[in-house]
Amino acid sequence: MTLTEIPSDAELVERFPYASIDHDNKALYRGWLEKSLRMNRCDDCQRFHHPPKPVCPSCWCSSLVPSEVSGRGTIHLAMFLHQGPPAPGVDYAKAPHPVVTVELEEQEGLRFTSTVAGCAPEEVRIGALVELDWVDRLGAPFPVFRLVEKS
Ligand SMILES: [Zn+2]
Repeated sequence: MTLTEIPSDAELVERFPYASIDHDNKALYRGWLEKSLRMNRCDDCQRFHHPPKPVCPSCWCSSLVPSEVSGRGTIHLAMFLHQGPPAPGVDYAKAPHPVVTVELEEQEGLRFTSTVAGCAPEEVRIGALVELDWVDRLGAPFPVFRLVEKS
C-alpha cells in the first residue's frame, strides 16, 4: 500500500484490530495510517470535537471535516495503571502505565487520551507541556505524547 491509496473500510478494520472502527471514527484511523491526528471540525461554526460524533455537538451541523491538529497541549488528567487490558509493549508489572488526557492547543476543552512515552512516571504531571509522537502498535502507527522540555 502506498500513502496515496486510501485504505478501504475492511483494510482499516484489519490494521487496527484493537479498535472498533465505525462510520464516525474511520477518518480518525485513516489519519493514523499517515501519522496525522485528525479531529472532526464543523464546517459551520468551525469548532473541533472529539471523540467523533455524527453531528457537531455545538451547533448540530452535520457537515464535518476531518482536520489535522498539532497534537501539542498540556496534560489535563493523568492516571497510572498498575494493571489493565493486555497491550503491545505495555508491562504493568515493570512500571505503572501512564494514561493522560491532553487538552490540545487548538481549542479549549478539545482533549485526546493516550499514553506518555519516553519518561519516568514521576515526570508525568498535570499541566506539563506535551507534543505528539507516533509509535508502532501491531504494525500500524499509534499516537502517543512526549514531554516537551521547558527552556
Ligand atoms: Zn458546529
